[in-house]
Amino acid sequence: MLPSRASVVVVGGGPAGFMAAIAAAEAAGGRFPGGVLLLESTPEPLHKVLISGGGRCNVTHACWDPRVLVDHYPRGGKALRGPFSRFATGDTVAWFQAHGLQLVEEPDGRLFPRSNRSSSVVETLRRAAIAAGVAVHTAQAGQTAQALPGGGFRLRLRSGGELEAEHLVLATGSHPSGHRIAASLGHGLVAPVPSLFTLTLADHPLVDLAGVAMDPVQLELLLTPLPGIAASSATKPQRQRGPVLITHWGLSGPATLRLTAFAARALRERRYRAELRVDWTGGRKPAELEGWFADARRDQARRQLGNWRPWPDLSRRLWLHLLALGGVDASLRWADLPRRSEQALVTALRDSRYQISGRGPFGEEFVTAGGIPLAEVNLATMESRVQPGLFLVGELLDVDGVTGGFNFQHCWSSGWLAGQALAAQRTCS
Ligand SMILES: Cc1cc2nc3c(=O)[nH]c(=O)nc-3n(C[C@H](O)[C@H](O)[C@H](O)COP(=O)(O)OP(=O)(O)OC[C@H]3O[C@@H](n4cnc5c(N)ncnc54)[C@H](O)[C@@H]3O)c2cc1C
Repeated sequence: MLPSRASVVVVGGGPAGFMAAIAAAEAAGGRFPGGVLLLESTPEPLHKVLISGGGRCNVTHACWDPRVLVDHYPRGGKALRGPFSRFATGDTVAWFQAHGLQLVEEPDGRLFPRSNRSSSVVETLRRAAIAAGVAVHTAQAGQTAQALPGGGFRLRLRSGGELEAEHLVLATGSHPSGHRIAASLGHGLVAPVPSLFTLTLADHPLVDLAGVAMDPVQLELLLTPLPGIAASSATKPQRQRGPVLITHWGLSGPATLRLTAFAARALRERRYRAELRVDWTGGRKPAELEGWFADARRDQARRQLGNWRPWPDLSRRLWLHLLALGGVDASLRWADLPRRSEQALVTALRDSRYQISGRGPFGEEFVTAGGIPLAEVNLATMESRVQPGLFLVGELLDVDGVTGGFNFQHCWSSGWLAGQALAAQRTCS
């Protein structure tokens, strides 16, 4: 049974909401007379945690310095230095360890639960919530909220019921209902747009190479100015270097996702049409390439081009594709490669151009850019600057990170800070 009032009501049972509720209840040590209550609209809280990281949950990233950590947030960036200097990745690792879950670092810096199963993270959070005395109510959606004249809030539920809260925490992720509740309490909204998506190349023969992965590749998105687009929109080229995966529709992989995260708004304004420059060599200097070609001409003179790649990590399928694209016969011997063809191949390797025709298939985006503006929140406490007693955490805010555990890290940090501030307000009152 849902009570009619609580000291703290958290709306949204995702990672940010759970962290806020647990941290508040633990830090207050039972000093919330009306208790801490968490409402989740679906029957199963923490759904995204369960499906995250391919079912393994990439909890955070081994990036220990808050000054470096903020570079992984296209929205948020330097403003997150304060929050991260109080609760960053090291604190996340320690927090989960203290709650019985060990995180293990992979060679690329991503941290996963030792079990390699996201369900362990869900179980840890659920167990910690129960232990801290948080009352979790599922299939209960917050619909509207009203600030009461004497302080506190009245929250209306979609079921028709309502309840009163001394403090309200909004942790609804990118769901529009959370934006509406925040708006009804005076908050603005930075228009949400998808971030972290793959790129579509319409009808380009490259997609016949689906499954080919290359690392490192250098990507450069050429964003030409568009008439009528605000000056704030990025027009300078966006660059990323790292692993790229060729898919049935275009390009994916960490470097592509990072690129689309940083260019999320600019790409949206251009309806996901832009020119992409791909350096399949990962940014190697022309002189180095010329050296490779000279070595191949000398040492592999009698070998056919198709049977000897300039460097071993170059995918054979990609090399054959670039030969065909450059109009170079793969059966030609290295000794017979004309200089002009060599030049065409160097260009194809270092400077292939592709027309982006859209973003990847629907449902691929991992996070939303946009949300409640950070200027409207005190980032030391996550309390609203617009409405005292209201706290905003997680993806609801205009913060998003690149892939690698950074999005969850922001949820843990913002949730934890809100929890501490809520408990501190209880202690002072
Ligand atoms: C497929 C996928 C994989 C991902 N993998 C990773 C990863 O490995 N690492 C990483 O860092 N990030 C990952 N992310 C991103 C990460 O899941 C999100 O950034 C994170 O879940 C945001 O947490 P949140 O608590 O702010 O919001 P959410 O996780 O979206 O939780 C919000 C909760 O609030 C509930 N809710 C919404 N409106 C209401 C309402 N009105 N009343 C009550 N409840 C409501 C929702 O049902 C939901 O349960 C992934 C995302 C996806 C989609």
